[in-house]
Amino acid sequence: MVPRVPDEGVSRADLHCHSWASARSRLGVQRAVGLPECATPPAEVYALAKRRGMDLVTITDHDSIEGVLAIAGQGDVFVSEELTASFRGEPGARVHVLCWGITLDDHAPSPEPPRRSPISALPLA
Ligand SMILES: [Zn+2]
Repeated sequence: MVPRVPDEGVSRADLHCHSWASARSRLGVQRAVGLPECATPPAEVYALAKRRGMDLVTITDHDSIEGVLAIAGQGDVFVSEELTASFRGEPGARVHVLCWGITLDDHAPSPEPPRRSPISALPLA
C-alpha cells in the first residue's frame, strides 16, 4: 500500500534504490570481487531521499523487504522489492521486476535466494 500524499499535485519518489539488505550484488563486477550491491543502512537511505526532496520513500532490495521494513514506521514509506524472476523454459535468463506498494503477504520469503518465479506466475495489476 502506498501512503497518500496530502498535495494532489506531483509527488516525488525514487522507485529504484537499495540498502544493505541487497547484500549480494547482482552486478557482475561487484559480485566478482565479493562486494555487496549496496552497503547503506536503510535509515540513511531514508534521510538521503528526504534531503533530496522525495515526498514518498521506498527501498527495492533484491528479493528482500528487510531494508524497507526497517524504515516502515515512517508515515511516508511504502514497501517494495526487486524480485528476481525468469521466463518459463529459460531459467538462465533472469530479469529483475520492481514490485512497488506490496504488502507483507505479497512477499513470501523463499528458502534460497534468488527466488526464480516464472514471469507468467506474477499477478497482473
Ligand atoms: Zn536494483
